[in-house]
Amino acid sequence: MIDFDPLEEPAHQKGIDDNKRIEGGSRIVSSTATQLQNYQTMRRVFREYYFKFGKNIECPREIRRREFAFRYWGANGEPGGMVRHLAFENEGEILATALKEVPCDLYCSNGYYRFPAYPMQQKEWLGADLIFDIDTKDLHLQCQLNHSYLICESCGHATKKIQGLDRCPSCNSPNLGVESLPCHICLDGAKKEVQKLFVVLTEDFGIEDKDIQVYFSGNDGFHLHVADANFQYLDAQARADMTGYILGKGILPETIGVYRRFGFGSNKKKTNESLGLTTVKDPSADISDTRIPDGKNNDERNNQNNFRIRFPKSGLRYGWRNRLAQDLGVTDLSESKLKNIVQQKGGYHGFRMGLDKMGKGLGVNIDPQVTMDVHRVFRMPGTLNSKSGLTKMKCIDLTSFNPLNEACLLSDGELKVKIKTPVRIKLKGQAFKINESLTSLPAYAAIYLVCKRLAIII
Ligand SMILES: [Zn+2]
Ligand SMILES: [Zn+2]
Repeated sequence: MIDFDPLEEPAHQKGIDDNKRIEGGSRIVSSTATQLQNYQTMRRVFREYYFKFGKNIECPREIRRREFAFRYWGANGEPGGMVRHLAFENEGEILATALKEVPCDLYCSNGYYRFPAYPMQQKEWLGADLIFDIDTKDLHLQCQLNHSYLICESCGHATKKIQGLDRCPSCNSPNLGVESLPCHICLDGAKKEVQKLFVVLTEDFGIEDKDIQVYFSGNDGFHLHVADANFQYLDAQARADMTGYILGKGILPETIGVYRRFGFGSNKKKTNESLGLTTVKDPSADISDTRIPDGKNNDERNNQNNFRIRFPKSGLRYGWRNRLAQDLGVTDLSESKLKNIVQQKGGYHGFRMGLDKMGKGLGVNIDPQVTMDVHRVFRMPGTLNSKSGLTKMKCIDLTSFNPLNEACLLSDGELKVKIKTPVRIKLKGQAFKINESLTSLPAYAAIYLVCKRLAIII
């Protein structure tokens, strides 16, 4: 292992691991004895995990070309600072370090570098795996509020999240963090997004099934890793374009064969400006009105009819054409149906705005920042997530995969905890409804609540 200097976390890293919650180090105000107890217990339970399941740590291809990063425990058993720019020779070294140092989180770069342990500017980038992140929080489901808690960053007080509550009820601090205990509705919602993404990657981008690995992130979402070398050399801009496509951003009516017609008088320019549309090369721009087949002069002057339809030669069976056609209920044979739809939307521009909304619904809810970043470090599969005590784990059968059972691998030895607020959780098929302040729980449930900052080990 080389280079152990703690470094400032770069801004581009923030996001996937919600690192804000640990910036500034320890926050819970408690007695020194309790702090020490928390610190020692967290390390002990995590070490036990690596003794038992360390062999499950999935090392990346080309270990020597990767940058590794570890996050260490803070003084009171909360996640502390991160150390980046580490390098390892082989799998054994990584496991030995996990057992010896017991970091609270282990990460590895998606990037390949000639000199992975050097500072970023001197690493010499050689490519990066293509990775996607799907997070339950980005789905904005209604259940989210039911299982979200506000944690005071000043005094550690925890309370159920209530709309409008913006100060700590205990110390009046405005500095509140949020913790979510994702439920099966959220996790199922994220799984659906994974399935949508899988279809786009295989059908639209031609990536083979075997080159896509799906992982539960260990907290509240999924990561998709693409092992196809053809995508390894894409720069950040190309990845941004790819995410725009997957998110369904900026879909043009022309995609489904709806072309704009020109020559509708003075309000044409005004409409463009008021819609805030940028200049897009329009395939129909050189087609005069005389070639437009519907032939009714009055209609030609009417914005509602400022379009014509010409289905693509390759049909509507693939990619976004297929997704849009299915959603609109049209086929290659239903030109008049599509015409009615566009007219009802108020013509080309109205239809285009409608497509923006459809794109959001039909696109995949990925975090674009994560995929664009070619220098990011990602949690290693098989390691524990310090935000939950759950494991980042490969999903062999996504449909049947239940993260709150299968990724919950900590021991069930009893731990005494002090609960900050009444809470209900379900882990390993066991439901816990905890109202009393002091209680004993199996380690996997106790650690889960400590990681969520809703309990303290006593
Ligand atoms: Zn407070
Ligand atoms: Zn939920």
